[in-house]
Amino acid sequence: MRALVRRLLTGFALLAGLHPAVAAPASPVSRVDPPNWWVGMRHEQVELMLNGPHIAEWSPNVNVPGVRIVATTRSSNPNYLWVTLDIQGEARAGALPVTLRRGAEATTWGYELRERERGSAQRAGFGAADVILNLMPDRWVNGDPDNDNRPGLTEQADRKLAGGRHGGDIAGLIQSLDHIAAMGYTTIWPTPLTESNQPAFSYHGYGTTDAYRIDPRYGSMADYQRFVALARAKGLKVIQDLVPNHIGSGHWWMKDLPAPDWLSNRNQFVFTSHARTTVSDPYASAFDKERFTSGWFDSSLPDKNHRNPQMANYEIQNAIWWIETAGLAGLRVDTYAYSDAAFIREWTRRILGEYPQLGMVGEEWSDNPSVQAFWARGRTQANGYVSPLPSVMDFVVHTPLAKTLREPETFNTGFKELYNLLVSDQLYADPGRLVLFDGNHDTPRIFSALNEDAALTRMALAYVLLMKRIPQIYYGTEVLMTSPKALNAFDAFRDDFPGGWSGDAVNAFTGVGLKPEQAQAQAWLRTLLNWRKTARVVHEGQLMHFHPDAGAYVLFRYDERDTVMLILNKNSTPTLLDTVRYRERLPLGAGARDVITGERVTLGAQITLPPRSVTVLQLDAVR
Ligand code: CA
Repeated sequence: MRALVRRLLTGFALLAGLHPAVAAPASPVSRVDPPNWWVGMRHEQVELMLNGPHIAEWSPNVNVPGVRIVATTRSSNPNYLWVTLDIQGEARAGALPVTLRRGAEATTWGYELRERERGSAQRAGFGAADVILNLMPDRWVNGDPDNDNRPGLTEQADRKLAGGRHGGDIAGLIQSLDHIAAMGYTTIWPTPLTESNQPAFSYHGYGTTDAYRIDPRYGSMADYQRFVALARAKGLKVIQDLVPNHIGSGHWWMKDLPAPDWLSNRNQFVFTSHARTTVSDPYASAFDKERFTSGWFDSSLPDKNHRNPQMANYEIQNAIWWIETAGLAGLRVDTYAYSDAAFIREWTRRILGEYPQLGMVGEEWSDNPSVQAFWARGRTQANGYVSPLPSVMDFVVHTPLAKTLREPETFNTGFKELYNLLVSDQLYADPGRLVLFDGNHDTPRIFSALNEDAALTRMALAYVLLMKRIPQIYYGTEVLMTSPKALNAFDAFRDDFPGGWSGDAVNAFTGVGLKPEQAQAQAWLRTLLNWRKTARVVHEGQLMHFHPDAGAYVLFRYDERDTVMLILNKNSTPTLLDTVRYRERLPLGAGARDVITGERVTLGAQITLPPRSVTVLQLDAVR
């Protein structure tokens, strides 16, 4: 049927071509996604999704050197038309007129091809030399109170409501760039800034309602581009949070779905089982596999059906469009494993095909190493799957981190459990590409998870920052923000950052009103982060750790020239650490600098550790 319609329409177009066009009608195109494309992309085709009343009745034609239409596709919904352009080397940036014909009617509609930014394809991503700051823009800084409510967007700001919008925005992100850079973070991961016109809980942004629009309550597209450019000028990279798996129920598609299989489960809501293991479990039933992938995350979060080829292209192009438009260094990919596995592999492969060095980290919220390792690049899995994903969020180490620090030191709890965890690094081709974090927008705050113990919090942060990983820190950790410990108290994990709103009694940007413990924590983290920026051995060096003993855990990062020693001491009294067992990495009498205090030390047969302490020693370089 579809083919017949296409043939008839093409026939009409040919006939129309024989006669002079009658008066040009108004453009039948209400919207096109992506709104522009570029010349000089590695993948030479782009599939435009045109939307407008009865747009499918029109047939497109281009007559521009280097540009051809290689496919037009229609669904049973007449209000959508997909046009695939092939853009060859001789194509020039600029206006691209597209003639649309319907019977005797003809009209010209303008698309645009742009020039790419110089060096775009070879842009640097993020890596182990970076420290990522995860923040929630609505809860960070309200730089422009005038945009808190915007016409056409349902939810109004209400700072008293834990799950409401609080007014933070891109202007606030821009205002805070100096603070972020001075703290020593190098990379910013804001939770999604795209339009989320959901009736409630829209502040978290994971229910996108227009994937090509910045939510006006955050600012404009130009504001976003300016934010990324200013960040780059200060040496900061920006990661965009994308959600290939689902949309918000307020998405503009939902009023008129482009195809009967545009969403998973034939556009009908059914809950996902959250059974992540089914993707690789050799005994999983097809039913269970399908229920995991095709189930919706929630009735308010419809699941995109990436087995529809037009949807798949839409998703791939949307990611590339943001990278190219905004100047991104990387992507954080929400619910990575919930998408169809073949699709998400192709999505990742296509993006990396355009930007080989781009940083990409996928979320797979599982503390099972076998499940997590399935998605990491560089290994052929038992079922033949080879993931191209450079980085995976390290829930395997994150999840038990607070517990192992809280617990007493016994033969199998505390540091020993943390030590034992790292054996699963053998499952990864490159465990140093995993992103380890103290917390994120979905987890209780680390200070609270550690019973508001500042010493244990320093141990957690030192571990995250010196481990063979790409580290990520949650906003607010720097000033010991608190939250409930309950795992589902999501709104309360996302309190406003102090000082982000005019009139805040406490201001973490200026230090006004911080308790001494908070100010100390912030200064300690600033010292460690800024040192880490320069410590190449922490970015690239090997890791060796020693079986924890008597309440102390010792780890080394090392290469041929440099060695850094991290000592975590849980004992509540001063502890004498006998250095003999560390000879492999610690020559007797080595000189070192204490990274936190700046003091010079000479490492003899014993090191005295302060009670409940973190010690970071940078050994003098081997010459
Ligand atoms: Ca605002």
